[in-house]
Amino acid sequence: MGESLLYSGHMIERIKLILDGMLNTGNLPNGLVLASAQDADRETAAHYIGMGALCDTETPGPCGTCSHCIRAKKGAHPDYYFHPFESAIKVEDIRTIRTAIQYGPTEAKSMMVILHNAHEMTASAQNALLKSLEEPPAGVHFILTTDNAMKLLSTIRSRSFLLDIPSVAPGSQIPIDQLPVAYSPLPEFMLKSDSAKLDYAQELASDKEFVRSVLLHWLYDASRSATMDEIGSKRLELIISTLSNMQYNLNTRLQMESLVLQL
Ligand SMILES: [Zn+2]
Repeated sequence: MGESLLYSGHMIERIKLILDGMLNTGNLPNGLVLASAQDADRETAAHYIGMGALCDTETPGPCGTCSHCIRAKKGAHPDYYFHPFESAIKVEDIRTIRTAIQYGPTEAKSMMVILHNAHEMTASAQNALLKSLEEPPAGVHFILTTDNAMKLLSTIRSRSFLLDIPSVAPGSQIPIDQLPVAYSPLPEFMLKSDSAKLDYAQELASDKEFVRSVLLHWLYDASRSATMDEIGSKRLELIISTLSNMQYNLNTRLQMESLVLQL
């Protein structure tokens, strides 16, 4: 796969592939933060994964025509909460949400709570949300959208999987031809020897952004895999958790070395 193909297509299409990977493999995090400067993009991505998680059909994303999709779209599904904050959400609002979700999904396989523009939440409301993010009732998932994940409390970020939409858009990610080593697509990388894998990891680890860029490409490669078996699913989970860990200042090189030996 050439660079042009990796970068072609609208960024939302690329995000959808990553989200499809999460849906297909049952790797939907308890808390997902979708950050994008474009309000429409983060809303689209949130609805895509939110409705996709409810949808009954075999298609990866929402089919748009089943009873779950239709009701979620209308805002009339008991397992689908979409909160477009017009003004700062307060602790009382979080309490209301917590009561509403306490028994988990009622009709669909998942219950989705989308807090759109979550950076509008007061700090005390974010604090009130922490426990639900950490240990939600079974089947309940939160999607928080924001224009900048850094506007959320670090405790919210550390409990969520952060997907920065601009960072996987053409131009805002380090172009693969500017990496210190040639980009190795995941299927090719997996065929390398352990020592070659470690060399690759060590060269990339000189810069966190190099690692992040390659992991996002690998996530994309892994999500595209037509047959997502147990091993494929495990691989996706490893890449996602490494990306996630990189948000905290853990040792990038150790993280990367540990990952590559498991791929
Ligand atoms: Zn559907």
